[in-house]
Amino acid sequence: MDFSLNEEQQQIREMVHDLCLERVEPRAAEIDESGEFPWDVKELFAKHDILAIPFTPEYGGISGGALTLIVAVEEISKFCVTSSLILSVQSLGSLPIWLAGTEEQKRRYLPPLARGEHLAAYALTEPGSGSDAGGMRTRAIKRGDRYVINGSKTFITGGSVADTIVVFARTDQDGDTPARNISAFIVEKTMPGFKVGKLEKKLGIRGSPTAQLFFEDLEVPAANRLGGEGEGFRLAMRVLDHSRPGIAAQALGIAEGAFDLARRYARDRHQFGKPIVEFQGIQFMLADMATQIEAARALTYASGDALDRSLPDIGSSSSMAKLFASDTAMRVTTDAVQILGGYGYLRDFPAERMMRDAKITQIYEGTNEIQRFVIARELLKDSA
Ligand SMILES: Cc1cc2nc3c(=O)[nH]c(=O)nc-3n(C[C@H](O)[C@H](O)[C@H](O)COP(=O)(O)OP(=O)(O)OC[C@H]3O[C@@H](n4cnc5c(N)ncnc54)[C@H](O)[C@@H]3O)c2cc1C
Repeated sequence: MDFSLNEEQQQIREMVHDLCLERVEPRAAEIDESGEFPWDVKELFAKHDILAIPFTPEYGGISGGALTLIVAVEEISKFCVTSSLILSVQSLGSLPIWLAGTEEQKRRYLPPLARGEHLAAYALTEPGSGSDAGGMRTRAIKRGDRYVINGSKTFITGGSVADTIVVFARTDQDGDTPARNISAFIVEKTMPGFKVGKLEKKLGIRGSPTAQLFFEDLEVPAANRLGGEGEGFRLAMRVLDHSRPGIAAQALGIAEGAFDLARRYARDRHQFGKPIVEFQGIQFMLADMATQIEAARALTYASGDALDRSLPDIGSSSSMAKLFASDTAMRVTTDAVQILGGYGYLRDFPAERMMRDAKITQIYEGTNEIQRFVIARELLKDSA
């Protein structure tokens, strides 16, 4: 299917594909086994300007296009989802600055992220507030030209390795609606009172650190607030509208990687005197997998294109892409394990890792139940 990628997008796809095939795929099993953040892959991506993809040239980047980022995340995810998260989270953590930052904030924080010298994180979720992000308890109290932040965040991807963390906190009185009482702040890891708690042990994306963060009388200059006081919740939701196509791209890449593996295996594996790919049962599975992947790619690229063209209702198209592509990743990776039979269940082959990695795409940046909620709200908004 032709999605009319432009020359820049095609070049980036090829460059990322070749680099990951040669340097990232051989590391993928090790990264999963050790559960350690792959600093070597981060350096590789910085050196080849892959971490510069989410940023426009005026802030040291090489693109800034949503579809270009999608294509890059998709390619990395074919080989190693943990590694794709280094790029995805660089985008997620810098989006609040890009969308709501002042010129001064952008000039200060974006170029080191684009160069890959700094890493970013996005800290919204708390132990008691996941889907209901507006129920957060972390507080920021204004004292003169500073805010004092107290509270904690949980499940923060890259929280233990990030230099620049966008933290959402309540700034107003009890009883206000979430849409009005939350603000966003740029926090630096060196600020006194910033503490990293435990790293979670996970089913998949094991080399991507998922951290608890604590803020103990952490003082942030008022100049580090993003947007106006009380505008943080809206910003948090806008960021997710922009970043969910990236999760769809991750899911799409995993599904494509698993499909390629299953097709190759089905050609090589012989049972009953012939390659198992000659059995119609296997052919039908491959046909279903390929069809779902094509549909997931169409939705994912369309959501990136909608962002690049600033079309209305991007929330709904981003949610549809994430919902469909992540369900596709789960189905396709499960079928890939099935096609590999008993070998699919072993760590000797990447199919089981792909299946474990796929699951998170149905959960983070809003569970798929929440995506349905976003889509339905958009569908029904004019029908009251
Ligand atoms: C590995 C990992 C990395 C993450 N990275 C980040 C990060 O970098 N930054 C960050 O801020 N957060 C991050 N998260 C948090 C993630 O976004 C949340 O886990 C997710 O939004 C769900 O919240 P929860 O876990 O509290 O589940 P809950 O909100 O408690 O949901 C539990 C179940 O109830 C369902 N549910 C909840 N509300 C409704 C409803 N209204 N209708 C129907 N069903 C509903 C959910 O779909 C789910 O099935 C990460 C999580 C994980 C596991």
